[in-house]
Amino acid sequence: MRVSVALTVLFALLTTMDAEESYEFASTPGKLPKQVVPLEYSIRTVPDLNKLTFSGSESVKLKASAPVHELVLNSLELNITKASIDGTQLSPDAIKLDPNNELLMIALPNELAIGEHSLALEFSGTITQKGRGFYYMPYQEQGTGAKKIALGTQFEPSDARRFFPCWDEPSFRARFQLTAVVPENWLAVSNMPVESERKIDIGREVRFQATPSMSSYLNVFVAGELDLIETKVAETQIRVIATKGKAEWGRYALESTAQILQYYNDYFGVRYPLPKLDQIAIPGGFGGAMENWGGITYYESALLFDPKKSSAATRQRIYEVIAHETAHQWFGDLVTMAWWDNLWLNEGFASWMGSKCTAHFNPDWEVWLAKNIQRDPTRRTGIAKEVAMEGDARSTTHAIQQAVANESDANRAFDDITYRKGQSFLRMLESFLGEDVFRGGIRRYIAAHKYSNSTTADLWSALSEASGKPVDEIAAAWTEQPGFPVVIMKRDGKKISLSQERFAINFPKAPALDWKIPLTWLVVGENKIESRLMTGKIDNLPNIAADRVIKLNANGAGNYRVQYDESSWKALLGALAKLNVEDRVNLLSDSWALVQANRADVSLYLGLIGKLPRGHELAERDQIVNAFDYINRLLLGNPTRETFQGYARSILRPTFDELGWAPKKSESPRDSLLRASLIAALGDLNDQEIIAACKKRFEKFVADPDSLAPDLRAAVCSVVGHYADDATWDKLHELGLKTTSIEEKQNYYDALAAARDPKLAAKALQISLTDELPTSRALPLVGKIARYSGHPDVAWDFAKANMKALLAKTDAVGANSFAPSLFVFFSEKSRANELNTYAKSNLPATSVKEVAKAVDEVEFRAEFKQRLMPQLDTWINTQTKRN
Ligand SMILES: [Zn+2]
Repeated sequence: MRVSVALTVLFALLTTMDAEESYEFASTPGKLPKQVVPLEYSIRTVPDLNKLTFSGSESVKLKASAPVHELVLNSLELNITKASIDGTQLSPDAIKLDPNNELLMIALPNELAIGEHSLALEFSGTITQKGRGFYYMPYQEQGTGAKKIALGTQFEPSDARRFFPCWDEPSFRARFQLTAVVPENWLAVSNMPVESERKIDIGREVRFQATPSMSSYLNVFVAGELDLIETKVAETQIRVIATKGKAEWGRYALESTAQILQYYNDYFGVRYPLPKLDQIAIPGGFGGAMENWGGITYYESALLFDPKKSSAATRQRIYEVIAHETAHQWFGDLVTMAWWDNLWLNEGFASWMGSKCTAHFNPDWEVWLAKNIQRDPTRRTGIAKEVAMEGDARSTTHAIQQAVANESDANRAFDDITYRKGQSFLRMLESFLGEDVFRGGIRRYIAAHKYSNSTTADLWSALSEASGKPVDEIAAAWTEQPGFPVVIMKRDGKKISLSQERFAINFPKAPALDWKIPLTWLVVGENKIESRLMTGKIDNLPNIAADRVIKLNANGAGNYRVQYDESSWKALLGALAKLNVEDRVNLLSDSWALVQANRADVSLYLGLIGKLPRGHELAERDQIVNAFDYINRLLLGNPTRETFQGYARSILRPTFDELGWAPKKSESPRDSLLRASLIAALGDLNDQEIIAACKKRFEKFVADPDSLAPDLRAAVCSVVGHYADDATWDKLHELGLKTTSIEEKQNYYDALAAARDPKLAAKALQISLTDELPTSRALPLVGKIARYSGHPDVAWDFAKANMKALLAKTDAVGANSFAPSLFVFFSEKSRANELNTYAKSNLPATSVKEVAKAVDEVEFRAEFKQRLMPQLDTWINTQTKRN
């Protein structure tokens, strides 16, 4: 047919045009002209802790590859007071700032000749509380409760320019040498070890060694009244640093780092290249972790572990975050993506590598399974492959590799698709190429690009060389186009036919796309995984006897859904006990997704649950807990809700009863996590016995904290908080105010946020306006109230009325997503319209994508709710009749 030929040609043309080239500095995107590059920076910073300002100076060794009349670099919210080039002072009007483009232009008196030059600048700026650039963190000191502050920096993707004027794009690598002046009793930390220090009249001047060649966003400076513990692996000094009195809680992080570093030294084939690696726990600033080379920063609760009070869930999260950030020391720091359109190379890779390493040392944790579902026993929002796949099925998704034109695009690139789809695709590719071949490719890649930058094309060519397979061809559809496929399997006797379609949710006109799918399958009862590359729209599996049961996507490792015809599905239901837990969880996830996508009735999913073998597999039950939690929140204020809650309790309660309240000796850590997960879930589902038991245990805990196992504290507090009366709420608040442990604080404030009494929800909302919590936690508190209290309307009304005060606590990125994030708990179409209207007159243009995503979510929930209610009623009725 002519049309399709034409389309094929066009498509081929498009993919060729899109196909990316190997890294080359000259053709790398970005705003800065490339004729002049920095080679070495020497930066000096002097913070003023009373005024919360700083003054700085720097000298930069430059190299000009063409004659220029002007220098163009990045600077933001800095006041440039002096500039000189090659020792010649420039007049003040030679200096021009362009705040909109975050640029500093320096007009030169004479043409700058090809060769090396020296630029010197003096500047000043402010230290803010916002967690971008140079920030300060107020905190309560452990033990004394005294009010202190510490200083920190956060530069990724484009905020180094708030600390010192620089060529702040990742391909402008240079060496950085920092000098800082701090109070005498402070510890100062940066990427490299201290080279020298001396007492001066305003404090202590600390000079750090120069870094190797690296990107500007990887610089770090942290200072305060800090303590540390240390160890050594090979030639590398490892330290865990925390505010005074807390360093010993870094013991677990220190031991984990030592283990992880050795694993990576071996895996990458290039040893960790810096003399030291610091894991730094910071008491505020931002909520996550940042892989600054040699000085990784973590929000305290992601690094510190108190064996007496912390939970098993915290322990696992700490290990995974350390494994992720430490993987970045190679993938991200030693080799850096050329530009932010390839951010997935950093993040998808570190996520995959971190999970692989965590799984290697902790087989008990079922890391990949936990990645596949949304593990959230303490109900802190977790991001998992499931969430990424759900987002990737929507109209608002994007390709892993996406055009990034400016700073706000770069900020927006840090999303589920970049992290989770990237990780998921790499896992699928690794299992297709084989573990050893894949590692061989990674070693080639690191060796070829160390101390330099790279593109996705460079990774594919290293993997192609190692495997002899056309990796770029397989990968293109997964990284350069949005979405993913569903494979539809039909059996007719021995014949098994497959076809693929794009899998879409709430996206009826999704453009059709094809993928090359690294497909795996198993014949139930045979201990072997088969694989082939499905290259076309349709395909066949080799003949298999009609009475054998087939399961596609072995272990759920592939990033695609599967839809079986009726007889194949029935056969699978009959063979569930012979499948491993990975495959059963995969069937649960796929069938729930098919229901969401309106490809199946909810009876497909609930029918599968009814057929599962008895037992208490954590991942299996957590998948169900998550789906039930979604339905329970969706039905808020709806008569079907009570019926559903009764049904959901009847499914989950027997598993809890099997586990019991008291931990059994030698039980697996998974049982402990599942116990907590079920307590929180059953509490939400209005299980009166569980609620009463939580209240009793909380009272006992208040009198004797050791009476409640650390693993259960978050769950018990959240149930108690949800059903709290005034006195209980005040007690939780008092405990939250008193503790200096960030993990405990989080438990109590999460519990406060969950109160279903609207009067208490209003009281909790007021906390977001105070300074009780670090600024980075204030807006998330409002989001938690919207989600857990069951009163998203109360939260939104409050946010609307206090928007200015709330947004003052966050930066532009946080401001873009805050209002939209509060709408995703609504399920009325009118709310989607309300958000659109609100956004038009109140939100900046940069929030357009966040608004579109939230509008899509509200519209989907509205549609899904209408569809789901009669299906649930019918299913629950039939079940009751049957019993
Ligand atoms: Zn990362």
